[in-house]
Amino acid sequence: MTGPEHPHLNDIRARIDQAARIARRKAETVTLVAVSKTHPAEAIRPLIAAGQTVFGENRVQEAQAKWAPLREEHPEVALHLVGQLQSNKAEDAVALFDCIHSLDRPSLLTALARAMDKTGRRVPLFVQVNIGAEEQKGGCAIADMPALLDEARKADLPVIGLMCVPPAGIEAAPFFALLDKLAGDHGLAGRSMGMSEDFETAIQLGATHVRVGSALFGARA
Ligand SMILES: *Cc1c(COP(=O)(O)O)cnc(C)c1O
Repeated sequence: MTGPEHPHLNDIRARIDQAARIARRKAETVTLVAVSKTHPAEAIRPLIAAGQTVFGENRVQEAQAKWAPLREEHPEVALHLVGQLQSNKAEDAVALFDCIHSLDRPSLLTALARAMDKTGRRVPLFVQVNIGAEEQKGGCAIADMPALLDEARKADLPVIGLMCVPPAGIEAAPFFALLDKLAGDHGLAGRSMGMSEDFETAIQLGATHVRVGSALFGARA
């Protein structure tokens, strides 16, 4: 399955293996989502050639344009939406993505339920939690999360876990630990947490999906 080696991918995979080993977890329980936002197809192809199959984007329109040809070449690739989603793009998102990490409000829940009914596609969802209670950040408040999860269950939406982006510039571990606890309390198996700077910590605290961009692709412009 793997073709030519990719230096950054090998390094990230080795670090995932090491973090999983320390946490006494199997590395296969951690999905590496390669966040390719802003990077062109030419930067993505070498990663696919090296065996990477899960990619993340944060804008529906950018992903549509970039991934139409890539997916024709590589139908095995799965595409995850890791950015905020406007309700009026829910149908496009459901048609394009294999997983959406950013369900964070009732209006979006309604739009996603409608889109899944219409397209017949059931796309696994993470509920994004505003884990640091930051005003400017996406994600539902921790206090609002149980009601949102209830609504999702009633609408029969496939919620598989919780997702967070902790506050920048301070230690992320307590926020990862909190997300892990919240997911456990609500019987959810998935934890989408950890980025280039802190994915090893996230794995030690239970991450099932790490979203790594710049450590794989280099800095974004
Ligand atoms: C951009 C982005 C990432 C990847 O960030 P890096 O620091 O480049 O690894 C992960 N998650 C979300 C939600 C993002 O927007």
